[in-house]
Amino acid sequence: MRLNIPETGYTDHHTHPASRCRILTECDARAASTWDEARTIIAAHIAANPSRELYVAHGWNQSTWGTPTVADLDALTDKELIVINVSYHGAITRKGIVTEKDYEELAIATLPRYDDLLVAIPKYHAYLSSLGVVAAHDMHLATMDQIDAYLELDRRGELAVDTTAFVNPRLLDDPRLAEIVANPSPRFRVAGLKLFLDGAIGVHTAFVTEPYLDTHDRGMLRHSKDECVALIKKSLALGLATPAIHAIGDAAVSTVLDVYKALKADGFDTRGWRIEHCEMVRPGDIPRIAALGAVPVMQPNFHWDLDHYGDRLGGNLRLINPFRPLLDAGVKILFGSDGMPEGPKVGIEYAMNRAKYPEQMITLEEALTAYGIKTH
Ligand SMILES: [Zn+2]
Repeated sequence: MRLNIPETGYTDHHTHPASRCRILTECDARAASTWDEARTIIAAHIAANPSRELYVAHGWNQSTWGTPTVADLDALTDKELIVINVSYHGAITRKGIVTEKDYEELAIATLPRYDDLLVAIPKYHAYLSSLGVVAAHDMHLATMDQIDAYLELDRRGELAVDTTAFVNPRLLDDPRLAEIVANPSPRFRVAGLKLFLDGAIGVHTAFVTEPYLDTHDRGMLRHSKDECVALIKKSLALGLATPAIHAIGDAAVSTVLDVYKALKADGFDTRGWRIEHCEMVRPGDIPRIAALGAVPVMQPNFHWDLDHYGDRLGGNLRLINPFRPLLDAGVKILFGSDGMPEGPKVGIEYAMNRAKYPEQMITLEEALTAYGIKTH
């Protein structure tokens, strides 16, 4: 039996429309394959927008551009310039490299505001719709402007993509949050807390058990286990039923499981709680994921890493994206693009044709199911 790849009906279980829509008005340099190409694109953007005080460019990829220097940025403009890493876990500014918490603060401080979001989100949704996406999980809302823009667009009947949102812990203290959670609008709801437990392999901040071969360190954890437990309890009390923790490195994935296990021991039902990316997984952690009923929300398009991060991970590349043993252990897995790039079809292409190890091989039917398509 041959399964066709449907044109539409996909759920992208991990993407960032209300944040990445900023790229529509900022500088998109993602197509550049060298810093020289990127410099040309950024210079043209600056020349075309002379009145701006801040320039933001997207697409810095160390594997292809190398690492631009502060002097490289200084040569482009006297204004502020932020060159965001493709991982969205770091950036270069005219003051140097920022990663993780510092990057996050910079990214949030420069997000589009309410009025701009009312224009940018529908444009971005039109793009997602053109790729067959009918529903999206927006995995990191960090401002009330983002929530208010979604609510207003839904009120106007202008939310083309059904949206389930997860929020940064900074919003837990907003007095309006609990009421918004309790009163979902027809096509928009806030479902859970999003925590970033570690970073990304590209900027060496994913927390790994065995040190990176090139830098000899292990990356980082951004929260202690106790902090995670306390923040999740606080979010559950506000009605945010589904925690979602970002974990890329194998040691970060193990730590998420420790956190969820501690909460299960406290009487919470961990079934359906999410592990975002769950990218590198030690075989011994697979039965632990199954026992907790946790749901890895994974990116087959991150198979890209298999071809580019051997210099950092060596044989541990094999821990990446173990879809097969997860499914065989009875774990439900979901797929999302993380916007790298948007849409399900690149992920399906990677899942089908770019696996390096048998652990990464699944059927088309399994891939479609993970993107929310009912195949029978
Ligand atoms: Zn993400």
